[in-house]
Amino acid sequence: MRAETVVVVGAGVGGLAAAIDLARGGADVLVVEKATAPGGKMRHIEVDGMAIDAGPTVFTMRWVFDSLFADAGRRLQDFVTLRPAEILARHAWRPGAHQGAHQGAHPGARQGGRLDLFADIERSADAIATFAGPRDAQGYRDFCARAADVYRTLREPFMASQLPSPVELVRRVGLSRLDAMWRTAPLRTFWSALGQHFHDPRLRQLFGRYATYVGSSPFLAPATLMLVAHVEQDGVWLVEGGMRRVADALCALGTSLGARYRFGAEVREILVEKGRAAGVVLATGERIAADSVVFNGDAAALSRGLLGGAVTGAVPVADARRRSLSAVTWCMRARAHGFPLLHHNVFFAEDYAAEFSAVFRDRGITQWPTVYVCAQDRGAAERQAAGAVERFLVLINAPADGDTREFNAVDYAPRVFGLLRDCGLDLEPAGEGVATTPDGFEKLFPASGGALYGRANHGAMASFRRPGAKSRIPGLYLAGGSVHPGAGIPMAAMSGRLAAARLLRPT
Ligand SMILES: Cc1cc2nc3c(=O)[nH]c(=O)nc-3n(C[C@H](O)[C@H](O)[C@H](O)COP(=O)(O)OP(=O)(O)OC[C@H]3O[C@@H](n4cnc5c(N)ncnc54)[C@H](O)[C@@H]3O)c2cc1C
Repeated sequence: MRAETVVVVGAGVGGLAAAIDLARGGADVLVVEKATAPGGKMRHIEVDGMAIDAGPTVFTMRWVFDSLFADAGRRLQDFVTLRPAEILARHAWRPGAHQGAHQGAHPGARQGGRLDLFADIERSADAIATFAGPRDAQGYRDFCARAADVYRTLREPFMASQLPSPVELVRRVGLSRLDAMWRTAPLRTFWSALGQHFHDPRLRQLFGRYATYVGSSPFLAPATLMLVAHVEQDGVWLVEGGMRRVADALCALGTSLGARYRFGAEVREILVEKGRAAGVVLATGERIAADSVVFNGDAAALSRGLLGGAVTGAVPVADARRRSLSAVTWCMRARAHGFPLLHHNVFFAEDYAAEFSAVFRDRGITQWPTVYVCAQDRGAAERQAAGAVERFLVLINAPADGDTREFNAVDYAPRVFGLLRDCGLDLEPAGEGVATTPDGFEKLFPASGGALYGRANHGAMASFRRPGAKSRIPGLYLAGGSVHPGAGIPMAAMSGRLAAARLLRPT
């Protein structure tokens, strides 16, 4: 019997995972990617001949990749070396500067301060007790238990399964477990739930930042997103050689199963014949026939007509106002002075609410945005040779309006690097860095507006409004961060697996 032929459009994590399961399931798989390398958002940029991770840096939910490899009869550790991070991240608050300058500035921020979160909950609780007192340390323990409970409730019935309706989700969790569903708190905002656990506003800020891991505002996202805290608590891994090794590993696994890859090949059109996806046309005009197509780009590209007129109805039209966060990023080589950096570092200003209303309401970037700094040459330990030139990714949140306006990174650099200096960190550049703005992300990931995580998780119903693995056109399937179960590398990988499962067993 002839093997089913499948073209996967896009070699992001979702496309790569789909290709692995499809090849394993006996399909004849061709992955077609417009970039010159696999990984999609998980890309790196060459700066002065050094590769710097320009996308995801926090690797979590390792079990997703362990099972992807195990199901193919391989071991993840034979393809990529992962080391568990003992310290999850170092957090710092700017001391007192601009105190009172912003409405809503919280008193805790005036204290500045520094706090590490550890893989070990009790170690973190001790650090929190010293930082904010024993009441918040207990609040943290309770928060961790609650986040783990939400995660356990939703992991299999929602994250690892095909898109359910809310009623179907309740059925999957089990009618006898309505209390567990209730504890996922979809009707409460994440920010208000944090208020139940933390009195020190800096801690609310720290844990509220988990909403941004899926591109959302903690003030608008449901408390359900506390499960992201558990995801981190469950293990953060440092990838030896950088995140691109993960993409390379996925490609190597797929290749070993017979999948083929073509890079530098843009798909201009998805063909539909007799009402069914029938292949693709490349920008060069080359036609590739297939029994089925998996689309790994942003699902909005379909309804926007970027893949041809025949597939505009494949998904509902996406509302651009509901996009998740974009970012302005700087990949740079620099010498770090003054602040004891770890691998993951977060620097907060005092007015957190202003940051999210600037992005989601005013479509701008606040005067003092939260700054994430990934010091890629540092492990969990802060040691680094004095005066060494290191590789950095610096990131701030931005609105996903990259398809309607241009952003200029130079406009934001003074506030970003000024905030770092206020926190004691001086980054002395060694050469030209590379900045990417929302319009840059839009060019790389068309129809996203530069949104890095698909649709924002705002409101109780948002998680159910992403498209599922099956489009409205027979033979056309969807994988990636813009579809169920959402963004982040493990979730995008899971979406690829769900697309492959639907394709191979279309019930
Ligand atoms: C700066 C940044 C930081 C992040 N931080 C984290 C983090 O720390 N941890 C985490 O888990 N996640 C993080 N994420 C999110 C994570 O990277 C994404 O959710 C995930 O990688 C998305 O995978 P995907 O399957 O949606 O594919 P994408 O990465 O979106 O890739 C889609 C691919 O499809 C290709 N494509 C699109 N259209 C076509 C076409 N017409 N023809 C050919 N090819 C096409 C694109 O070129 C691209 O390679 C971050 C993202 C960014 C950008």
